[in-house]
Amino acid sequence: MTSLAGRVAFVTGSTSGIGLGIARALARAGADVALNGFGDAAEIEGLRVSLERELGVRARYHGADMSRPAEIAAAVAFVQAELGSLDVLVNNAGIQHTARIEEFPTAKWDAILAINLSSAFHTVQHALPLMRARAWGRVINVASVHGLVASPMKAAYVAAKHGLVGFTKVLALETAGSGVTANAICPGWVLTPLVEKQIDALAAEKNLTREQASVALLSAKQPSAQFVAADELGQLAVFLCSDAARSMTGVSLPVDGGWTAQ
Ligand code: NAD
Repeated sequence: MTSLAGRVAFVTGSTSGIGLGIARALARAGADVALNGFGDAAEIEGLRVSLERELGVRARYHGADMSRPAEIAAAVAFVQAELGSLDVLVNNAGIQHTARIEEFPTAKWDAILAINLSSAFHTVQHALPLMRARAWGRVINVASVHGLVASPMKAAYVAAKHGLVGFTKVLALETAGSGVTANAICPGWVLTPLVEKQIDALAAEKNLTREQASVALLSAKQPSAQFVAADELGQLAVFLCSDAARSMTGVSLPVDGGWTAQ
């Protein structure tokens, strides 16, 4: 089993969904973790304390808004000050908005580009010197199948995720041979609040029950007809942090029940 004892991981957008699954898996492997994201302060504190008590690691929380470069700089400095280093950076924070291009609100386009793409540039710019100083680091960018293929109604999301895949490749080239790797994980449908909103919208639009809308959503794209679990992505992140993955860099790994095989 991979041990990440002595490593420090910062997972953006980890108060919910995939980010929380990845943070838990990294902590289970022994990493100290810094959480980030929005939500109820007491619930977030509960998550932080449960990681410390159940998994015996140090856990911290910083509430930086990933659309704000100055707050991102402060968050990375906080992780370094509180936990002593930053070895594993998971760029996971993300939002979605669906609309045709003609109706796509400019403010939503800007927010999606800022949170789903530019935040990764800013976190990496601050974290990379810390990784280079220890000649070891792992950057894991949570892209999406929408970093590899497109769907209608998702112009900003698809543009941001394709951009994140491209950014991952450049980072891999610039860090090759340094002990730092950079890879992207490209999930298909994972049942999280981000997708629950899309299920509710489909149910309302087509007059379906939530159950029927879930089946319709999955069967349109994901041949497995099952949601990917956040913990599967967590275990993949742990693998990418292992020695066995030290030569894997610059790749984008679909975890999509066959979505992109079609
Ligand atoms: P989610 O809504 O459950 O979690 C998103 C997290 O990001 C939350 O912790 C939220 O507080 C945080 N966040 C949102 N805006 C933020 C901001 N401005 N600053 C800091 N944190 C912010 O969604 P999820 O499905 O777990 O999505 C996580 C990532 O996975 C996203 O990048 C998403 O695009 C990607 N993804 C999700 C799916 C899916 O099917 N759920 C599929 C492929 C990729």
